[in-house]
Amino acid sequence: MDCLFCKLVNGDIPATILYQDDDVIAFEDIMPQAPSHFLVIPKRHISTLNDLTDEDASIVGKLPIAAAKVAKQIGISDDGYRVVMNCNQMGGQTVYHIHMHVLGGRQMTWPPG
Ligand code: 5GP
Ligand code: ZN
Repeated sequence: MDCLFCKLVNGDIPATILYQDDDVIAFEDIMPQAPSHFLVIPKRHISTLNDLTDEDASIVGKLPIAAAKVAKQIGISDDGYRVVMNCNQMGGQTVYHIHMHVLGGRQMTWPPG
């Protein structure tokens, strides 16, 4: 399958990995939109949020747990951070393997653009 993040999971493209376990992996975003910006993804390919089924509940539940672990590890927990998941074109999704953005190190504003 020609998926950028599957290649990254397989080690075929380099990444700065911050955390991984059997199910998820967290790595720095290549074009950071904040002083801290990393992504957390399931290792198994799921294209969009629309493709999730009840069977994916435990794996998807691990995404914010891993996000919080890494946030603590890199020291942004107490100040705070934002998590974002984009779905399809209007949501701003560009890589079709679901991922949780975690952004921190600056003040976030609401609503997002
Ligand atoms: P999306 O727009 O799909 O929500 O987010 C995709 C994210 O993946 C973007 O923030 C983009 O910078 C990041 N990205 C795209 N290609 C690569 C890559 O090859 N390596 C890493 N680490 N991040 C990437
Ligand atoms: Zn994939």
